[in-house]
Amino acid sequence: MQLFPWFEAIANRFLKNKAQLAHAWLLTGAQGIGKFQLGQFLAASLLCEQPSALGHACGVCQACHWVDSGTHPDLKYVYPAALHTQLFPEQEPADKEQKSQEIRIEQLRALDDWFYASTQRAGFRVVIFYPAHQINGVTANALLKILEEPMPRTVFFLISSQAPLMLPTIRSRCQIMRLNSPTKEQALSWLAAQEVSHAEQWLAAYDGAPLTAWHAAQIDERPIPEWLERLVMALQERQRAGVYALLPIIEPLAFEHLLTALQRLLMDIQYCQFTIEARHYVQLQGQLQQLAQRSSPQAVAFLLNQLTQSQSTAHHPFNQKLRVHRLLDQLYGAFA
Ligand SMILES: [Zn+2]
Repeated sequence: MQLFPWFEAIANRFLKNKAQLAHAWLLTGAQGIGKFQLGQFLAASLLCEQPSALGHACGVCQACHWVDSGTHPDLKYVYPAALHTQLFPEQEPADKEQKSQEIRIEQLRALDDWFYASTQRAGFRVVIFYPAHQINGVTANALLKILEEPMPRTVFFLISSQAPLMLPTIRSRCQIMRLNSPTKEQALSWLAAQEVSHAEQWLAAYDGAPLTAWHAAQIDERPIPEWLERLVMALQERQRAGVYALLPIIEPLAFEHLLTALQRLLMDIQYCQFTIEARHYVQLQGQLQQLAQRSSPQAVAFLLNQLTQSQSTAHHPFNQKLRVHRLLDQLYGAFA
């Protein structure tokens, strides 16, 4: 379990008061800064048999080994099945049938027996609930019921980058732990320690979120996807055919990732319209500048707003071909 340097102060404050902890915590903050890992670290520290003077998990005792291998009997994870590989890459992949994007009510019901059994070591029992906003109405009500009847020495970590989407009644049951994003220096020095080259470009492209940047750097070759560079070039040269030639590359991408990349692109164009430098795709500054002059701030803001709205339905099984096609139409139209 690692504790990211940017969370050290808040983790220490939390563990200092572990004798009188609130039973439910809402960890909120930007995406990709390590909130889930902080939840794991705090859980490990509560369960550790020989924590350090600061209360940190020792990493070597039986409990710490169990937490590391995901088998601690007093630690439960509740998350959408579709996130299994992302959260636990070293474990067996989840059942192919179980690709749910939401936390299901059965997962909460399964906690019931566990609550009433005694803890393994007469210590804490911890539930990590992630992401806490990805939950339907029925499941949210079941969660609310559980939170309304706190159980002794049981701690819930609800983790979300979209806390405003959660039921206010659930939020109000939780102690809020607001997590600040790392400074650029902290993020860059962490990425350097992970041996990510061109860390600054990766970090910029992923909006200052070190974990997302690191993850992307493992999979992709370049901080700016090739399709995005080609798209910008085709838009700049007003080549309609060049824009639509990207369809076969763009279509298979996860729609939310596609939207996120385009949102960042449009934000950069917006920055250029207000004579500020691009923030995400700095290397494309020259081309973005030209696109910025070719459209009005209103048109770009309108498009950006549409993309933001599409994010909320990104997981819906709409016709992918159709919606990607429409996106390209809109983009081309805005800069033609
Ligand atoms: Zn330990």
